[in-house]
Amino acid sequence: MSGCVVPESEIARQYSIAESVRPMVAGTKACIITFGCQQNEADSERIAGALRLCGYEMTESPDEAKLIIINTCAVREHAEIRALSEAGQFKNRKERERDLKIGLCGCMAQQAHRREQIYKSYPYVDFVFGTDMHHRVPEIIKTMLGAKKRFSFISEKPHGEFGVVSEGMPVLRESGYRAWVSAMYGCDNFCTYCVVPHARGHERSRAKEDVLYEAKSLVESGYKDITLLGQNVNSYKGGCSFAELLDAAASFGGEYRVRFMTSHPKDASSELVDVIAHNPNVAHHFHLPVQSGADRVLKLMNRRYTRAQYVEKAREIKEKIKDVSLTTDIICGFPGETDADFEQTLSLVREIGFDMIFTFIYSPRPGTAAAKMEGQTPRAVSNARFAALSEAENAIAQSINDKYLGKTLRVLSDGMNKNGVYAGRSTQNKIVTFDKPVPAGEFTNVKIITAGGYALSGEVTE
Ligand code: SAH
Ligand code: SF4
Repeated sequence: MSGCVVPESEIARQYSIAESVRPMVAGTKACIITFGCQQNEADSERIAGALRLCGYEMTESPDEAKLIIINTCAVREHAEIRALSEAGQFKNRKERERDLKIGLCGCMAQQAHRREQIYKSYPYVDFVFGTDMHHRVPEIIKTMLGAKKRFSFISEKPHGEFGVVSEGMPVLRESGYRAWVSAMYGCDNFCTYCVVPHARGHERSRAKEDVLYEAKSLVESGYKDITLLGQNVNSYKGGCSFAELLDAAASFGGEYRVRFMTSHPKDASSELVDVIAHNPNVAHHFHLPVQSGADRVLKLMNRRYTRAQYVEKAREIKEKIKDVSLTTDIICGFPGETDADFEQTLSLVREIGFDMIFTFIYSPRPGTAAAKMEGQTPRAVSNARFAALSEAENAIAQSINDKYLGKTLRVLSDGMNKNGVYAGRSTQNKIVTFDKPVPAGEFTNVKIITAGGYALSGEVTE
């Protein structure tokens, strides 16, 4: 593990590079466009922190920025196409504005075939950098300022050696009350459909002292909702179990919530369920991706649990954490998935009763084992399965949410949303809208008056 920790001397070197470029970039505006998961959002906050250290002023508007960084996702083809079309939008502007710089990073940048495509077809992308280069952003900026041609910061190490843990670089957070805290990075599971181990390297944990120091500082500066992040947080190995880490992060005193993303069913321990049940600051939300309800497909996916084992874990969670919300991810149309296999998924969904399902149509990822499997499912079949799952889930979510009618939930306000409605989140991570202004970042009690499958609505009672 220690081999992947970035030495303090390297971090100090980056700070001094940042200082040296500051006179050249001071006041220049930079914008990061982020696609994909929470890990990417957290990475963008690290990149923003490093850019600000270099002297950039961050803006949310690409139009006013002279440096635009596109942080990409490669988990499904759709996300890749969106990122490429975003990059394509700057073609004309780049021709007019010689001083506009475009960078591309994230999981797509880590894929050799995509880099080749960017190199050939997107000549106005000035530079790319990989997922293990965030701490080197000052050096990337320095290179960009002196570069006469396009360049890349990519390491092409084998999976077991690819990936770093870096401490001490600044983070510029988007929110003043919700925060991501990475507990671990990368993944060793190699689910056969998934690009993540290829794009993010081997599993590595931050030291518990570093995670807890960051969480404690956030709580002390008024953060109310902290999410511990990792591709598979339950394999955390930074000096204690993940359950112990979660318990400690939720024990600094005062009212705040700690969540986590994501837990793999094969590793979701009873110890973890007990911490959620007993520590009042741990949110009552468990996201436990099942992917399929058919043992045959789970095996082809290399998920390493059976339907029965998943059902048992879901039962334990629902029994021990009375008001928990259980959510999941499902892939439909995995290669070779038969109608009978899909029926098993539908029956699992009905048997368990998830609060929400994130359903994805299988997208073949170059370089993964599933992309080479026989029997790729026709798109029309996947679409029909997607629709059937959504229909089943809508009814289930509605009946679960109806149980909240008349109950009072503690809600962390997000203030007014873009539709002009006051909204926030309950401990279950349910969206709750309410009738009176409550400042963003404050807790309030809301009595639930109406329930839909997606959100609850009520009156502030305090
Ligand atoms: N580490 C997380 C998942 C990260 S990817 C975990 O194991 O739970 C988020 C979700 O995207 C996955 O749970 C899966 O449902 C979906 N996904 C991943 N690869 C996919 C692919 N090739 N096609 C469709 N969906 C995919
Ligand atoms: Fe991908 Fe599986 Fe790792 Fe999740 S556990 S990131 S789905 S390989």
